[in-house]
Amino acid sequence: HLMLNIPTFKLNNGIEIPALGYGTWLGLDEKANFSTEDLPKMIDAMSYAIDIGYRHFDTAHLYRVEPEVGQVLNKKIKEGVVKREELFVTSKYHREADVEVSVRASLKRLNLDYLDLILIHWPMSITEDGVDEKIDYLETWRGCESVLEKGLVKSIGISNFNVEQIKRLIANSKVVPASLQIEVNLNLGQNELVDICHDHGIVVVAYSPFGTMVPSRAAPNSPEPKLDNPTMLEIGKKHGKTVTQIALRYMFQRGIVSVPKTVTKSRVLENAQIFNFILDENDMKTLSEFDNGYRTVRPVFWQNFTNYPFEKLPGLEQIEIPLSLRKWKNGLNLDID
Ligand code: NDP
Repeated sequence: HLMLNIPTFKLNNGIEIPALGYGTWLGLDEKANFSTEDLPKMIDAMSYAIDIGYRHFDTAHLYRVEPEVGQVLNKKIKEGVVKREELFVTSKYHREADVEVSVRASLKRLNLDYLDLILIHWPMSITEDGVDEKIDYLETWRGCESVLEKGLVKSIGISNFNVEQIKRLIANSKVVPASLQIEVNLNLGQNELVDICHDHGIVVVAYSPFGTMVPSRAAPNSPEPKLDNPTMLEIGKKHGKTVTQIALRYMFQRGIVSVPKTVTKSRVLENAQIFNFILDENDMKTLSEFDNGYRTVRPVFWQNFTNYPFEKLPGLEQIEIPLSLRKWKNGLNLDID
């Protein structure tokens, strides 16, 4: 049956990371509660992803889905579809001060004995109750270096760090991060951060790789390109590919890993069929011109926290952190510690 061959990039510690992964953030609904009703669909889509050759899975404590992600991985290992050492599993933490406590709890929820990559999810530190703990991310990084040394994880990295923060981290650490996960898509090219990373052999992983292209992520009046953008359709037609495939291929040719999220099986397949064509120089130039610095993901409710990495939007001083983000239970019924 169908088996995709997804290429890899090499991390600065010699370990290979598949150039395409499966994202597991299901999002919040209109009432800012976790969309866990999509979890059964995600379990199906993720199982299918493994069957057709996905090996890289991107999750986080914050997503509350680690128990289900672990169930699917362990089922596929048990069925002999995949071996643990063929999988690349990432999780992320930013709540607890003690990284080892976080990692051990995550391994328990996932029912795994090591992680391939852990990331400091955000440069801010936030307690269980949503309080700004103001812990320096350099201190959190020492915790990451320590779990690396103990063998609980194979690689360590960061997420949502800005230029100044990543420079400070590199200048003050023993271990250079293996990876930086940030929003990258056609609207948000992130050239400066990508260049810094590539200079240090740090692999960039793009979250929200479709940006405002997909309706679920497109705020009103958000910029082009959308799914019906004529320029995108034209490039797609030239290569016999969909607009979303062009967006993902563009990222791959920039040397960036993407972790698109979908709970739709046909899209699981579609998103991975990007390794059998090449965008030419003209295509790459045309696609680069969509970059206008527009950010899709902005957790404005954290913007007054110490080390918030993005530019602050005015007039949002009073915005509250959604209650769901202050209850740290996991799984379909949100009842697992
Ligand atoms: P994506 O850019 O992956 O967009 C997801 C949306 O696109 C879903 O609504 C999905 O619909 C739809 N979609 C997926 N494939 C297609 C397709 N081929 N055609 C049309 N629509 C499609 O955004 P995310 O924000 O989810 O980012 C991806 C992953 O990145 C997350 O799941 C998470 O793992 C990670 N992430 C990390 C963050 C961080 O702070 N480090 C922040 C945000 C995300 P459907 O599911 O209904 O098919």
